[in-house]
Formats: sequence, structure tokens, C-alpha cells
Amino acid sequence: MSTAQNSTIFALATPPARSGVAIIRISGPQALSCLEQLSGKQGWQPNMARHARFFAPAPSSDPSSTLIDSGLGLFFKAPKSFTGEDVAELHVHGSMAIIRELLDLLTKLPGMRPAEPGEFSRRAFLNGKMDLIEAEGLADLIEAETKAQKRQALEQMTGGISRFYEDLRTKIIRSLALLEAYIDFPEEDIPQAVLAETQENIHSIQLLIKSALEQRQGEKIREGLSIAILGAPNVGKSSLINRLAGREAAIVSHHAGTTRDIIEIQMDIAGLPVRLWDTAGLRESQDDIEQEGIRRALARAGEADIKLVMFEAGREKDPESAALICNNSLIINNKIDIFPRAAIAPGEYAISTRTGEGIDLLLEALSHVIRQRFSSESAALITRSRHRALLSQALAHLDRYDSAMPLELACEELRQAALSIGKITGKIMVDDVLDVIFKQFCIGK
Ligand code: GDP
Repeated sequence: MSTAQNSTIFALATPPARSGVAIIRISGPQALSCLEQLSGKQGWQPNMARHARFFAPAPSSDPSSTLIDSGLGLFFKAPKSFTGEDVAELHVHGSMAIIRELLDLLTKLPGMRPAEPGEFSRRAFLNGKMDLIEAEGLADLIEAETKAQKRQALEQMTGGISRFYEDLRTKIIRSLALLEAYIDFPEEDIPQAVLAETQENIHSIQLLIKSALEQRQGEKIREGLSIAILGAPNVGKSSLINRLAGREAAIVSHHAGTTRDIIEIQMDIAGLPVRLWDTAGLRESQDDIEQEGIRRALARAGEADIKLVMFEAGREKDPESAALICNNSLIINNKIDIFPRAAIAPGEYAISTRTGEGIDLLLEALSHVIRQRFSSESAALITRSRHRALLSQALAHLDRYDSAMPLELACEELRQAALSIGKITGKIMVDDVLDVIFKQFCIGK
């Protein structure tokens, strides 16, 4: 996006649908004059809502047709606004006719154009109102569907995570400054004390980055985690997913081998978004399509964060499914309504998807496992693969640093490490990165 920043942009900030109130937001140098023109009023005070009627420029033939709506007008003076520019807001009745008329009218005013997705936030970023991490936090907040997602996005948006990255960058730059002082004096040996201090600083930064990279919970909370239901045909996998979904999401059939592809439902467990996969039954098969389904099921089993490995209570465990039991699995024995006296091994779960018995206990166990493994009180430092990639890059440069290297090369590694971290918060700007990030936003944000 290479549009001049001095144009005035506008967009509907509320959903394009019938509603009580609709808000149109205008940002740029003409925001105030636009508000004055539409309302026919002068003297707008910053941050004060004011009742107003909004008019289209009157065609002389029929002055009565010029009223569009009455509502509220608001003016925010630069730099004290969301974008850091002059901003006006029109709060009108949420009728599609009114919204269309106002947007059409704004398009016709000279120097004004509709905002592109994320353009308000992009301007806020360019005007120093927020850094990239905070902007991403805002986008995530708008997208948040579960409590944990909301909490994480809010933490990110309010600067908690930015501080971590800024501290890292400052620490690297401090070490760099210590060494750079000697570049201009090649005949002087760097004192051992300086080398030791730099080495120690770099080591502590490496540890901080490594421990951040080890955590995956930020990405899991943002993107959701996955649970695969696995087991032989007919053990009741589809019935379980339907029970959990509370609706007929998977086809339940007594013909073995019905679920040949993967069926997914979304759930909220322990405040985290969860994708639950129903997979093809695992067994020896001659059927090409079924074999493909089984291959996919096993691939999903590999990707899943948690596996629910299912058996029929009272029957011997089939070896294909038993092979999937691991640290990340819960073992489920289904159909306890037909085999009520089946011996259930300790640590395994007994359910009947038919009667619903044991399902609550299973859900509680799942919540417990998810909470233990994926949520924590401390804020996640990495919430996107972008952060992970740049942080790994920074670590690679720090790992290459060696005090025995020629000084210029050693400094260059530190400089590159600081640069990679600067790209995370946007201290170092790269235009194409900005395009990718802000285009993911919705229009009007
Ligand atoms: P899948 O092939 O593992 O997905 O199994 P389905 O969910 O399609 O179920 C296979 C058959 O077992 C169907 O006839 C279901 O009605 C039946 N079934 C599933 N769960 C139970 C249960 O808890 N008790 C009983 N009695 N039958 C069940």
C-alpha cells in the first residue's frame, strides 16, 4: 500500500447490517471540514459529542430531500485520536439506506476516499500511536472468540509484550555500543573486562530468547489447538464428536468405514479455541479411498495436540489404535451401556455416547489437560509465526557471535540481531511487511 498519507479516508466502523447505531469514521486533514459540511455547523470541540443533522448538498429543485439523518457528530483533534490525525465520527441510525447514502456522499467529496482494510490502524502505527505488536494485538482482539484469546490480545495491545521485545533490543544495542567504541582504535586491545561483560550480556539475552521460543501457548491460544479422535471403525468416534458438538456434525453409521475424510468441529474448552477432528477408522483395508482416509487420520494424529484414542469397552484393544497411545493421549472406552461391567484400567475414561454417561467427566479431564498444558498466568511472548521467525533469526545471529571474531564481524552479528527484533515491534519498518500485516485487518479498523 503506497497511498499518500495526507488523503482523508473514511469507512463504516460498524458491521454493514441493520442495527441501532452505525458509525462512520473519517480520518485525515479534511475530517473537520467534512463534519462541518455535512452538519452545516461550525465550532466543533474536540472529544465532545454533539447532536447534529447530516445533510447532502442541496439540489436546488427539492431542498426537503437533503436531510440524510440526525445523529451524533464527534471530532478528535490530531494527535489525540486513534490514528493520530484529525478524526471525525458520524453516529447515525443503522439503516442500510442511510449508510449507503452517507458513504456515497463522502466518496464524492474532493480529496476523500474509502479506507483500505486496516488503513486506520496503519496510520495509527505510522503516527507512532502503537507499534506493530500492539497493532496485531488489536487485530486479534477484534477476532477473539474465546476468553483466553481476548485476554492475550488485550495484553498484547496494551504494550505488555512490546516491552519484552524493546528490552531485548536495548540490551543487544548496549552490548554493541560497548564493542563499537573499540572499532575506531584497532591498535588497542579490548579489555578482558569489556569482553567478559558483553559475553555475559549476550548469554543472558540468548537464554531469554530460548525460553520464549520454547513456549507455544501464545500461538496455540491465538490459532487454537487440535484434538484428534482416533480408533477402529465403529467404536463410536462420530457419535462422540456429535455428542460434544451437540449437533449432527459427523455422519453416524453402523457401516464400518463411513468417515473416510476428516470432519472438524470448533469448540471452546477451558477458554481456548479447540478444533476437534473425527477421523477415518483405523483398520486393515483393501479399499483405496478408505486407505487414503486412514493415511490422513494417521497424519492428523501426528499433528494433533491431544489424541483421544477410542476403544470399545469390554473388547480387546486393537493394535492399530493402541499404537497411538502416548503422553498426549487420553484413552477412552465407549459403549459402557452394553458392557457395563467391563474392567476399565486406571487412568482410562469410560463413556457411553448413547446415554451420555461419562461425557462430563471426559470434558472435565480435557479442560484440565488443556489448562495445564496451554494456558498460563504469564503473558505469552510469541503469538504469531512472524514473531517466532524473527526471534529465531535474532538468536541465530547471537549464536554466531564470537569474541574471537574480527571486531567488525562480531558487531555486525549483534547489529543484525537487534535489527531482527526491531522488525517484530516495527521499530525497523519494512513496507511489504506492513502490507501483509495491515491487510489482514477489517475495513474500518
Ligand atoms: P465410528 O465409526 O467410530 O465413527 O462409529 P459411529 O459413531 O459411527 O458408531 C458406530 C455404531 O456404534 C453406530 O451404530 C452407533 O450408534 C453405535 N454406538 C456409538 N456409540 C455407542 C454407545 O455408546 N453405545 C452403544 N450401544 N452404541 C454406540
